[in-house]
Amino acid sequence: MVWATPSDSARYTGVLPSRIHRAIREHLTHYSDDGNPFFVGDPDFIRQQLDRWKKQLPFIDPFFAVKCNNNREFLEAVRKAGINFDCASKEEISQVLDLGVRPEQVIFASPRKTESHISYAKSQGILKTVIDSEDELYKVKELFPTAQVFVRLWADDPSSHVRLCDKFGLHVEEAKHLLGLASKLEVNITGLCFHIGSGASDPEAYDQAIRLTREIYNYNDILKHKHCITMIDIGGGFTNANFDKFAPVIRAAAERYFGSEPGIQWMAEPGRFFSSDAFYLVCRVIGSSTNRKYSAESDKPKSKLFVNDGLYQNFLNVLIEKITPAPIPLTSRGSFIVEGQDQAYTIWGQTCCGIDRISCDTRLPGVVQRGDWLCYSSMGAYTNVTASSFNGFVSNTEVIWATKL
Ligand SMILES: *Cc1c(COP(=O)(O)O)cnc(C)c1O
Repeated sequence: MVWATPSDSARYTGVLPSRIHRAIREHLTHYSDDGNPFFVGDPDFIRQQLDRWKKQLPFIDPFFAVKCNNNREFLEAVRKAGINFDCASKEEISQVLDLGVRPEQVIFASPRKTESHISYAKSQGILKTVIDSEDELYKVKELFPTAQVFVRLWADDPSSHVRLCDKFGLHVEEAKHLLGLASKLEVNITGLCFHIGSGASDPEAYDQAIRLTREIYNYNDILKHKHCITMIDIGGGFTNANFDKFAPVIRAAAERYFGSEPGIQWMAEPGRFFSSDAFYLVCRVIGSSTNRKYSAESDKPKSKLFVNDGLYQNFLNVLIEKITPAPIPLTSRGSFIVEGQDQAYTIWGQTCCGIDRISCDTRLPGVVQRGDWLCYSSMGAYTNVTASSFNGFVSNTEVIWATKL
């Protein structure tokens, strides 16, 4: 059999949709600034994810976690699609209210809140909030006793990218105690919630968490002054890749543990699921060098590429989530670079910090040099939201939309 030489599109089919490639080429032909990095956003992806959600989890109301991506136009698209919002601070709340989102469409989901942020939420009519400690219960009792309070339960998928179990959530006995205390303080608990960890992979973690939720729900029934618990919030953890595996397990667990309970209102707080694959990051190679000296540990020459982005801007996910970004190399005009043999590169960020390395031993199909561009997919979650202006570089990155929002 004769293998065809990988042509331009064949090599990257499926990785870089043609509408995204078109938008990149268009931008590279017309840009007049100094060649800053830019995102290409894909509105079709948001709609497609919402369709999947509605098909597979029609009884669960999604609240998009703003901490994941707070680009204004993106949030506007999320709002237009009819999705609600999970906010963690005064600033996030004010950002979504500015878009015309109604207060009942927002949950103030951080379990530990600054007092003034609670007062702000109250003043804006944001009722739903979360606690997981006595201290926070007293805070809410004092500042906002009429809030609709959720108790956050402990949950964990040990294989998730970012685990939350050490920081948040109550174990069975602690949760029971808090429910009892809230009842004494006359603060009504209206919901139970959990988060199994961001970028999760084990659907059983949802089954276990929903089982624990039922246990606490039952305990409430035997309290002398019981709470009126009507809402269950299953948090985040979803990705584009794990969703089809997770959804059936969640449906089954909801049925198994709560099937007999009418009137439960189900919610979730997906972040990554809606935003990660909706964004491509394109950054420019600002320098390259081939070290001709062979290093001690390897007999291969090490080539370096420096790009105008890095860990302090859009790539903190390399450090926090241990991802290994694999770029698609493009010429200065945006055509695929495919000629020649694979070359290994270490890709460095633009700051003077020695930790600022995006990836090592990255294989690229051909020689990449100054003026070329690298396109990274799945860069819409926990990327620009954490960017800083360290070393004087810009933290906000322009977003170009591939199709009409
Ligand atoms: C971060 C976070 C989310 C979003 O998590 P994803 O895994 O990105 O879906 C949802 N809820 C809370 C409380 C969070 O802290």
